[in-house]
Amino acid sequence: MLRRRVIIPAGGTGTRMNLGYPKQLLHLGGTTVIERIIQMFFGWADDIWVAVPASSFEVCAQVIGETAHVVAGGSTRFASVQAAFHAIPDVADDDLIIIHDAARPFFEPETLNRACDLAQTRGAVIYASPATDTVKQVDAHGQIEKTLDRSTIFLAQTPQIFRAGILKAAYATWTDDGHPPTDEAALIESTGTPVTVFRSSKTNIKLTEQEDLALIPRPPRIGHGYDVHAFQAGRPLYLGGIHVPHELGLAGHSDADVALHALIDALLGAAGLGDIGQWFPDTDPAYTDIRSTELLQQVWQTVHARGYDLCNADLTIQAQIPKLAPHLDDMRRMIATLLLIDPTCINIKATTTEGLGFVGRKEGIAAHAVVLIQHTKGVVP
Ligand code: MG
Repeated sequence: MLRRRVIIPAGGTGTRMNLGYPKQLLHLGGTTVIERIIQMFFGWADDIWVAVPASSFEVCAQVIGETAHVVAGGSTRFASVQAAFHAIPDVADDDLIIIHDAARPFFEPETLNRACDLAQTRGAVIYASPATDTVKQVDAHGQIEKTLDRSTIFLAQTPQIFRAGILKAAYATWTDDGHPPTDEAALIESTGTPVTVFRSSKTNIKLTEQEDLALIPRPPRIGHGYDVHAFQAGRPLYLGGIHVPHELGLAGHSDADVALHALIDALLGAAGLGDIGQWFPDTDPAYTDIRSTELLQQVWQTVHARGYDLCNADLTIQAQIPKLAPHLDDMRRMIATLLLIDPTCINIKATTTEGLGFVGRKEGIAAHAVVLIQHTKGVVP
């Protein structure tokens, strides 16, 4: 019976990534790169063999747990795959060996069954992407020797899928001359066995350099904020960053702009940066009567500097009095100006509480804010 046996060379130490630890242990939204790759094949493959650096064998084995077999890799990618292949017990010639780089965590496995069917009939199939840039051949001085015909150029990726008998025969022909091929397909090609390309998706990128971290899609982060302030006579009413004409203002250490306070807390919450009270203690005279527009700008600068952009913010102000509908658009534009974003990213709603509760008794105003922020820069937060 045909078996699918997956080899993941994860032996690199990731020095070009400059992370200080192997890149396969890099976190991608809650799981490490290596766990994510194993999950792609887990349950689909008959077994999974991961070659990890001998120097971090223990820590990698701990992360991988029971989901895959762990073997010590070699000094090159080629040697790591070979070590894993030779560690697999009772390999039959008809077994499919599926080799996938540990540095390609965005491979979408939907097409894998089709690629395996093809490998079963053809014997050797690799994922590859057609060259989209014009391809130049250059000499040792960086001078162009010639322009290659782009339509014939494919960039080899993984998975690379081979019938085990073909890979075994190819390994038997190889003698270590210190220049191992950079993929298994090259070795198989050198034996005269044809290798077929299977078109890869654009997302199947390889994490190699530090700047590649910018390509990692990160899930957005949500934040919620809630605030209440009581009415107080003799103070101006500030809401959503603007002055709203009314006989009562709100009590507070700052200007008591309850809507902006909720928004500030939502932003801090989304970024995992605590709350407004920690940032601007009401015991600090520096914040007496300060405009909350200033506080919002300060907080947004910090959140933005951490690489986040605001996707959208949705605010709900609960007030029995005054009527807020005529002022909502001005608030929206003010907040957009303060955050330097498009006003369509901000939504503000106002509601009464039908006379119920402290808001209904006209004792004060409450506000909720929900924000979604997304990491758009290459810095890992
Ligand atoms: Mg407040």
